[in-house]
Amino acid sequence: MKAVAVFPGTKEIKVIDLEVPQITEPDQVKLRMLDVGVCGTDKEICSFQYGTLPAGSDYLVIGHESLGEVMEVGPAVSRVKVGDLVVTTVRHPCTHPECEPCRAGFPDFCRTADYTERGIKGAHGFMTEFVVDSERNMHVVPPELRDVAVLTEPLTIAEKAKEQILPIQRRLPWLNPDLPMRAQTGRKLQGVVLGAGPVGLLGAFVLALTGGEIYVYALPPAPNPASAIVEAIGATYLSKGKITEEQRKALFSNVDLVYEATGVSSLAFEAWQILGPYSTFIFTGVPSQHAPKEVDTDTLMRNIVLNNQVIIGTVNADSKAFDAAIRDLGIFHQRWPDAVRALITSRFAVEEAQDVLLGKTGGIKNVISFAPASVPSAR
Ligand code: BGC
Repeated sequence: MKAVAVFPGTKEIKVIDLEVPQITEPDQVKLRMLDVGVCGTDKEICSFQYGTLPAGSDYLVIGHESLGEVMEVGPAVSRVKVGDLVVTTVRHPCTHPECEPCRAGFPDFCRTADYTERGIKGAHGFMTEFVVDSERNMHVVPPELRDVAVLTEPLTIAEKAKEQILPIQRRLPWLNPDLPMRAQTGRKLQGVVLGAGPVGLLGAFVLALTGGEIYVYALPPAPNPASAIVEAIGATYLSKGKITEEQRKALFSNVDLVYEATGVSSLAFEAWQILGPYSTFIFTGVPSQHAPKEVDTDTLMRNIVLNNQVIIGTVNADSKAFDAAIRDLGIFHQRWPDAVRALITSRFAVEEAQDVLLGKTGGIKNVISFAPASVPSAR
């Protein structure tokens, strides 16, 4: 079978031929892969700045945003059946008995850093024709979401972030505990998403479901494909170059939360320095390692204390976040069908994966397809 693999030793990305994996444990499921999304993390791995090879291998099969169809199930499998569409979780727990989060089923909070991530860290990924994994890592997707279900994994970032933010918002005594995202005054939640890539846009979709006032702040001037999506879901797109310094300050000092989705630390810190009262700043990006930059630490520390701010990082995701992502994708699909489909710019054949992984293809979310979806490619 074909698989897309990264060889850090020779700095190559190649389509290789591998043996088709077989079920070896009773709880395993064999999948035929349908779609595998490409994200910033994959591009980092392909520029050899991130990622870890599986032990004993000189290559890593890439791909962690997946959609597969069940081909075969082991004798102990009860939850998924042949023909089901499934999305498989990425992160697997470490094996240390003392790692409480991993032992409790939350490897996204692993404290030993010995977790593995399929397609990223120490385990082969999903950009291949067939995959075998345990049933417990699989989440069934309704067939009507076939065309967009590959967005489930990147959507788990926002779902987990939401789970983390809700209790933080509840710390503010004047908020109605039953409607934790709304002030009792009736003022709507105001949120800014930093960045208009897939993670930012999916974050905006999740925030838009709260009925709040949502802004997406990004570098490219509007109109562009991302700004059209933002407007379609009732949010506002603001381009960094098109607003004044005063407007920028007013924006960041008035919001309840900033959802960072750029992975560019300088941009994030620029916004953080003008963050207003009791705001939550949630980081989701994993920046590339560049030369150190200067930061005004006094202003940051003053702001955090005098403004009761919360700064939080999040990495995806537990099983509940996958279920929430599948549920919300269904809601988006009903409410904003064209906008959610427009997140997927193009589908490419596996032979074209190298160009996509090297970032030569542009667009919002590009997908490597092993089987045609009912939606024609935008190319
Ligand atoms: C993936 C996560 C992963 C993170 C860090 C993200 O792109 O979606 O599953 O935990 O990178 O490796």
